[in-house]
Amino acid sequence: MKNTPRSRISNPYGAIKENFGGNFQFEISLRGMEYNPKKIEKKWQRLWEEKGIFKGKDFSKKPKFYVLDMFPYPSAEGLHVGHPRGYVATDIYAHYMRRKKFNVLHPMGWDAFGLPTENYAIRTGIHPEITTRKNIKRIKEQMKMIGLGYDWLREINTTDPEYYKFTQKIFLLLFKMGLAYEATLPINWCPSCKTGLANEEVIDGKCERCGTEVTKKDLRQWVLKITAYADRLLKDLDLLDWPEKIKEMQRNWIGKSEGWEMEFRIQNSEFRISVFTTRVDTLFGCTYLVVAPEHPLIEKLKSNIQNLKSIEEYIEGTKKKLERERISEVKEKTGLELKGIKAINPINGREIPIFVADYVLVHYGTGAVMAVPCHDQRDFDFARKSNLPMIEVIKPYQEKKELPKEAPLIISDGRYQMAYEGEGFLINSGRFTGMKSEEAREAIGQFLAKRNLSKKAVYFKLRDWIFSRQRYWGEPIPIVHCQKCGIVPLPEKDLPLKLPKIEKYQPTGTGESPLAAISEWVNTKCPRCGGPAKRETNTMPQWAGSCWYYLAYVMLGNQKSKIKNQKFIWDKRKINYWLPVDLYVGGAEHAVLHLLYARFWTKVLYDAGWIKFKEPFLKLRNQGLILAPDGQKMSKSRGNVINPDPLIEKYGADTFRLYEMFMGPFSEPINWNTKGLIGMKRFLDKVWNLFGKEKNVISIEEDKEIERILHKTIKKITEDIENFRFNTAISALMILVNELQNRNYGIWHLKTLISLLAPFAPHFAEELWQKYFVQTSDFRLQTSIHNWPWPKYDPKLIKEEMITLVIQVNGRVRDKIEVSADISEEKAKELAISRERIKKWLKDKKIKKVVFVPGKLINIVV
Ligand SMILES: [Zn+2]
Ligand SMILES: [Zn+2]
Repeated sequence: MKNTPRSRISNPYGAIKENFGGNFQFEISLRGMEYNPKKIEKKWQRLWEEKGIFKGKDFSKKPKFYVLDMFPYPSAEGLHVGHPRGYVATDIYAHYMRRKKFNVLHPMGWDAFGLPTENYAIRTGIHPEITTRKNIKRIKEQMKMIGLGYDWLREINTTDPEYYKFTQKIFLLLFKMGLAYEATLPINWCPSCKTGLANEEVIDGKCERCGTEVTKKDLRQWVLKITAYADRLLKDLDLLDWPEKIKEMQRNWIGKSEGWEMEFRIQNSEFRISVFTTRVDTLFGCTYLVVAPEHPLIEKLKSNIQNLKSIEEYIEGTKKKLERERISEVKEKTGLELKGIKAINPINGREIPIFVADYVLVHYGTGAVMAVPCHDQRDFDFARKSNLPMIEVIKPYQEKKELPKEAPLIISDGRYQMAYEGEGFLINSGRFTGMKSEEAREAIGQFLAKRNLSKKAVYFKLRDWIFSRQRYWGEPIPIVHCQKCGIVPLPEKDLPLKLPKIEKYQPTGTGESPLAAISEWVNTKCPRCGGPAKRETNTMPQWAGSCWYYLAYVMLGNQKSKIKNQKFIWDKRKINYWLPVDLYVGGAEHAVLHLLYARFWTKVLYDAGWIKFKEPFLKLRNQGLILAPDGQKMSKSRGNVINPDPLIEKYGADTFRLYEMFMGPFSEPINWNTKGLIGMKRFLDKVWNLFGKEKNVISIEEDKEIERILHKTIKKITEDIENFRFNTAISALMILVNELQNRNYGIWHLKTLISLLAPFAPHFAEELWQKYFVQTSDFRLQTSIHNWPWPKYDPKLIKEEMITLVIQVNGRVRDKIEVSADISEEKAKELAISRERIKKWLKDKKIKKVVFVPGKLINIVV
């Protein structure tokens, strides 16, 4: 076999020094040898781990990059083919960043407290610890089988007492900061799981875990004051590179509204009702008040209410209803007038009736609302049904002659058809008539404020976090109840407070956890006075351990070997070095659960001075679900789960990884199709065979076109990985391989191809790399493909085709620009709206639509 000269001009590695010197030679011909993943994958997995190829080093001169997966719950079913989608993506990204010479941390662990394991224990009597250990072993094997390059020396498990010692420590911190408190509250109760739930765990009125309809129950609870952070949780979303959809879900969940809180006097009484509104400009149109059935006014003014009996019956009926039913949009609103008492509208002194209605909830706002039927659809519906007066106080701004659709339309009998909820000029509003509604809000608010009848107020929809569960398999809450001292936190030296072994895992259903039955554990001494005390028997919710786990990996750091019972050390130097997480990948279903809770704890730790960053996850990407071939969600109960193990056994991990990434755009759901694996295997076979055909291997100066294609591919794959477009990156590799098949190519082309393919098919690439490009059999970090610098492209070689793009505004040509022929819609829009000539046509108008004809024009409709 002849030596192949290296070319200076086409070396994609530019100035990077060649490590292995000399000319490259094909030492072994692969001709006739088939690509057999079984022969190579296990070997490389073992060698990578032995040589610590994927270890994240604590401290380095290189810039750090922390890439994290949402860690899984170790379920008994193991991973199905849908799970690795995110893991393969982060693995590719981690490979890429290592090759870009970043010091990369990419760890994995187990979010192992939770109901399925506990329910399994109830059924079988097997301790959750044993089940957890077994499940972890299985999933870890699967992950290794896929060739995921995790730093396993940093593996964590939330049920490890050394781990939850810190979960408990942070709980004590919350307690000391006044952010954890005890309260007896009507909370969401799952009758099937026999435990209380947080608001975030109730999805459409059902238990997030088991789908059972949630009821209400009065229970003594530990509650975390997440509401104290509502404003910051909202504001700091702006700092994050997260999918807009997730940010919007958090914004809505936090639900900030700014407005005025007003006092309505009660006729012939000292009592006042406080009402919050964002539309104080419509106050002249307020014709009645509505209070929640639980509002204290009813109890206080009992003797004045003439129809007390029917009111009490109504209230009794409300108690049986679920909150979801009460506020449902479709349901007809019911309510009763409190006869005998009247409120006074503070703006005009008018006497107005008061209703009690179940669609008003006592724990939202002030538990009372002012009703403005002409300008609020819900009030309108209720007023029309009950024949209550309506006063129109906002006239829509009318740019055009005809009445906007949303305007209240007067029909023949003199009644309105629907409410107008928009802005406009005030009418029927005394001295404020003629004012714009936006301005009237401030004016009317201030007018009342001067008379001590109103003040500016902000309300949040977010409620405090119900933090205790009446179950066994969770972190014990490190608190004792002393007869003398009351609530006493455990001293830190007593942590971890370990979960005791028990015989019965069944939840009691009485609202107490099974721990309450172990008297030798429950009865203890008060750490403060030494007197008799009882331990808190509630446990923490499944979300506790994941609130800070991204710190735990870092705390383990730099170990020589895996030690049993490893200790977590709160090492600020390491934490400051690695955190925050640069890239976080996981499912979108955690939008208002884990992602909100973890942000909350991070802010608390920041305030306490334990950490120096305010947000845990700077950049977030969500993978789309992989569905069963029939388009259904994969689940054990549907019997449509596809296990990756036999597929990997048959096709190899690299083929499996390629298919996971190739099947569709990363963030979109897609149906699984096992046949797709065949195409990926063929692709790898093709690459393998390129190496066998040495007769094609010629000096690369002979073909300039292949040079151009190669460099274009480097650029494309680099950009695609950075933008999570793994599917198109793989397409680009396929195009390159087809080109190579049909042309003459040099050794550099193959070297670059393997180098680009390595993050996607790491075993395959390592095998070829070692065979062809490394002249030593001593495998170590320095000779691994996964340490080889990421190729650079030569911009001179990629002459872009330019075109003239026409920019239109509302269909009229307003500008023309020279752009690259393959410009994206996004980029074209960005360029177009930044042009001065276009800006003057857009002014501050809202862009309604963008029409983009690739290579030709972009039309902006305003
Ligand atoms: Zn449940
Ligand atoms: Zn005491």
